[in-house]
Order: sequence, then C-alpha cells, then structure tokens
Amino acid sequence: MARSGICAAARITLDNLYCLRCNRELEPGHKSVAVYMFANTVGIRPRQKSTSQRMCFCPQCSVSLAMGPPPEGALNLAAWQMIRDLVSADPALNQAAWDTLRGVVGLLPATGTDGPRRTNAGGYFEF
Ligand SMILES: [Zn+2]
Repeated sequence: MARSGICAAARITLDNLYCLRCNRELEPGHKSVAVYMFANTVGIRPRQKSTSQRMCFCPQCSVSLAMGPPPEGALNLAAWQMIRDLVSADPALNQAAWDTLRGVVGLLPATGTDGPRRTNAGGYFEF
C-alpha cells in the first residue's frame, strides 16, 4: 500500500532513530521517549540558538533508567529526572515497556536466524 511506501521512504530519508541506551532501532510510530535539547545565548546580541538535538529512549530503557539510581553529570541528571517524571506520572509508559518486553520475548527468534526457528518453543512456556 501507499502507506508502507511512505514509511519506507521516510526510513531512508530520515535518520533511523536508535535508543540512546540500548541501541534498539526505533522505527517511526514506535513508542519511545524523546528528549530534546538545544542551547541559546542569553543577554548576548544577536541572540543565537543552536540546532536542536533529539535523543530517544525505548520504553524499556526509560522505565529502567527511571527505576535506577541517579546518573552522574548535570545533563544526565536533568534527563533522568524528566524521564522519572514521565514514568511516574502514568502507567502507560510502563505498559509500553511491558508490551515491548513481551513482544521481544516472542519475536526474538525471527531476527538474525536464517535456519529453522530453533527457539520457537522459547516464546511459549507451559507449566
Ligand atoms: Zn533502549
């Protein structure tokens, strides 16, 4: 369909996004947390503004970071506090992380294996 064609084009023209922490690819439309950062001059003319940087974190890393101890460095700490705000404000991000975790567990055998899906049974535990 045309929609998938647009997506394919977008993936080529736009830089594919990767989770800053685990390097997982974040395709357009995937759930993630984006941290934007830019700098501008204050009290200096002409006023200058830097380009904006976008850093992305997958839901699992977001939750993991938020639950973990504070990182070192003022910028890291600021980002950590923002992510903690999001994770603690609503369970939706936790839910997304949980869904992703479930999906990764189920889909893992499909990536990087050309042979038979040896680990197919791994996704379905029966007790
Ligand atoms: Zn990640």
